[in-house]
Amino acid sequence: MSANAFRPSPVVPTVDFDHDGKQHGFLRLPYSRDESAWGSVMIPIAVVKNGSGPTALLTGGNHGDEYEGPLALFELARTLEAMEVSGTVIIVPAMNYPAFRAGTRTSPIDKGNMNRCFPGRPDGTITEKIADYFQRELLPRADIVLDFHSGGRTLDFVPFCAAHILADKALEARAFEAVTAFSAPFSMKMLEIDAVGMFDTAAEEMGKVFVTTELGGGGTARAETVRIARRGVLNVLCHAGIVAGAPELRPTRWLDMPSGDCFSFAEDDGMIEPMADLGEMVARGQVIARIHGVARTGTKPCEMRAKMSGMLAARHFPGLVNAGDCAAVVAAVLE
Ligand SMILES: [Zn+2]
Repeated sequence: MSANAFRPSPVVPTVDFDHDGKQHGFLRLPYSRDESAWGSVMIPIAVVKNGSGPTALLTGGNHGDEYEGPLALFELARTLEAMEVSGTVIIVPAMNYPAFRAGTRTSPIDKGNMNRCFPGRPDGTITEKIADYFQRELLPRADIVLDFHSGGRTLDFVPFCAAHILADKALEARAFEAVTAFSAPFSMKMLEIDAVGMFDTAAEEMGKVFVTTELGGGGTARAETVRIARRGVLNVLCHAGIVAGAPELRPTRWLDMPSGDCFSFAEDDGMIEPMADLGEMVARGQVIARIHGVARTGTKPCEMRAKMSGMLAARHFPGLVNAGDCAAVVAAVLE
């Protein structure tokens, strides 16, 4: 264990996590800079607590250009009252607050990608300091964690709630029960391209029930996906026994990302032409996108073919694509 683990976090919460009632406050992170010598980053946080009981940690804005989570969680923080709760609900609608304010995936301060820098560092960059606070102060308090994501500016997804296949099968089963309770139109057994440094991995390694979402994308939100987020978060709180009542279950289709074959990465730069739309079934070998060179006329487009059969679950969003971009994700339909 490094000496950093013993250094206290510089983050100062203005809320008391052990206090009954509803509190709106901040995680205040000192950030000395040209514009503000003794200034701070003020990350909004709400704590709704009523007696003993389980604790849910609800987060959005892990990436700053994904809006269903913040829209659901700012609203929940405004409307959820302590008398409706048995236990504690910790709400951070915009984890990477500088990125959220800039409308960008990563922080404009240090280019930090919150979901690639766990466990963070108390003496690191601004993004690493936020991650460290979650790692050492907030995650240990939680019994269940719901972290909202969407596709951001560069991806678009069919709306799903997801959990990961884990070595700890009992924990995995509890996570998928929470996914079922969330009740998005799709439920995903999610494979990560690179799980190192993710909030997800940090929570799972701590033995926490962790569920996440991908609810849309394109750097905006839709009425339908915001409704899914708002219903889903209340469903998860009911499932956890923190809010009274049963989850409002809706039909869901289970999807799986069984191997790296689900991802298609562009190998050329150019203009991308979707040859299938989100939610469409595609067969292995089928052309799912074409990339058109834009430097001259007369060049043939490059064809991207599905490496497995299934449903198109995600796609590159902008009209222009670069080599290396994730162009599409095909998921197997389980039922
Ligand atoms: Zn994200």
